[in-house]
Amino acid sequence: MKLIFDKGKPGRRGSSLPKMDVPPENAVPAQFRRRTAAKLPEVSEQDVIRHYTLLSRKNMGVDTNFYPLGSCTMKYNPKVNERAASLPGFAELHPLLPQLRRGGALTQGALEVIYETQRLLCELLGFADCTMQPLAGAHGELTGIMLIAAYHKARGDHARKVLLIPDAAHGTNPASAMVGGFITQTVASDAEGNVDIEDLKKHLGPDTAGLMLTCPNTLGLFDKNVQEVCRLVHETGGLNYCDGANQNAVMGRVCPGQIGFDVMHVNIHKSFSTPHGGGGPGAGPVLVGECLVPYLPVSRVEKRDDGTYTLRYHCEESIGYIAPFYGNFGIILRAYAYILTLGREGLKRISENAVLNANYMRVRLAPYFDQKVDRPCMHECVFSAAPQAKKGVHALDIAKALIDRGFHPPTMYFPLIVHEALMIEPTETESKETLDEFIDALIEVVKLVDTDPESILAAPVTTPVRRLDETSAARNPNLADI
Ligand SMILES: *Cc1c(COP(=O)(O)O)cnc(C)c1O
Repeated sequence: MKLIFDKGKPGRRGSSLPKMDVPPENAVPAQFRRRTAAKLPEVSEQDVIRHYTLLSRKNMGVDTNFYPLGSCTMKYNPKVNERAASLPGFAELHPLLPQLRRGGALTQGALEVIYETQRLLCELLGFADCTMQPLAGAHGELTGIMLIAAYHKARGDHARKVLLIPDAAHGTNPASAMVGGFITQTVASDAEGNVDIEDLKKHLGPDTAGLMLTCPNTLGLFDKNVQEVCRLVHETGGLNYCDGANQNAVMGRVCPGQIGFDVMHVNIHKSFSTPHGGGGPGAGPVLVGECLVPYLPVSRVEKRDDGTYTLRYHCEESIGYIAPFYGNFGIILRAYAYILTLGREGLKRISENAVLNANYMRVRLAPYFDQKVDRPCMHECVFSAAPQAKKGVHALDIAKALIDRGFHPPTMYFPLIVHEALMIEPTETESKETLDEFIDALIEVVKLVDTDPESILAAPVTTPVRRLDETSAARNPNLADI
């Protein structure tokens, strides 16, 4: 495709501005004025529209194609929530507007949204309190870990330096634990994909600060031993952290705060309706049980007896600031709209449909791949393309062949404990017809491994570029030559 800069013709225009009625020397101080004209393309409005529309069609997104990207919940987000987030009364707020009294009416609504979203999440997940400030899931993890550290410190329990992390945890868990100043130890999974209780017991001791459980874990499984795991950790004096980034598997069905978790984060940019392609923005609220409430970060939104809302900046034992202002407000607003439009029953139906879709996928595809664990999954199913790899076609090749058939590839080579992993998350919103189309395409690809493997190794052939060196493509992207 030609660059927009190469399309111009001198004198062609796409805009008409009113005649300037300010003398130029008054409009921009001399030192900031250009000395030579900018080299802008001279193009018509139609040229610009066609150029950008064609560019957008080269992009694959959840609004155009099925996107089975496990673990990231790249799901369809209802457009009504975008509308809520763009209401001018919210979208045009400045975070430095006064919170109360004089001019306070301008921010009371925003404070109410933060307060109410916290309250709804606490009710849904069974916790005492919540902070909406963390700006991503991993940021929520770090916040939660800082809360655990503050708890042990306040008790004078300085020996607790180890966070236990099962091998089926998300990769951000050990990273956050290290950044938070802890040492990590890995706990093995048993043959069914649960935490191996005997291995856990070997690791528990007076240095245990706590355990971080990704729930559901990265095998897409709900740990059957979860209550026993939490009990054992508590018995040794540690706290339990729940990585709840993927709530669409369990929301309305499980109350983590009531089965032994002391602290948890949720990714509202995944489960609660915010598109997050390209890596952001995000929001990872952290929920806590009573024992951690005093340490929550500031500022805190509080409701007064007269029904108004205020921000409290001074809490004696707080871990302090973890982000400027009050979190990614637009994302909080979408989550609030999402929870209110679905309601208690709607949220339950989300997790039912997410689990149903993933298990439909799992059962129909099971004959063609290996599985580390053969039992019902939650929101995603994980296969191993080991049988195909033996014949020279790898998970990566299968993923590329799916692109030619109109599907975004699933997650590959993750979780690390599965050889040649393909992790498929259909999400709750996809219809049976779409799932069948995807499954049929995948079966067609697998059959070609025996009859025409070359065609798979050559994929993709329908895209503007073929196979790239993915590392250098990410470091030195060529955005022009397509
Ligand atoms: C996505 C994810 C995270 C990290 O969330 P970010 O917002 O990307 O920082 C952590 N844990 C799990 C299980 C996840 O799926």
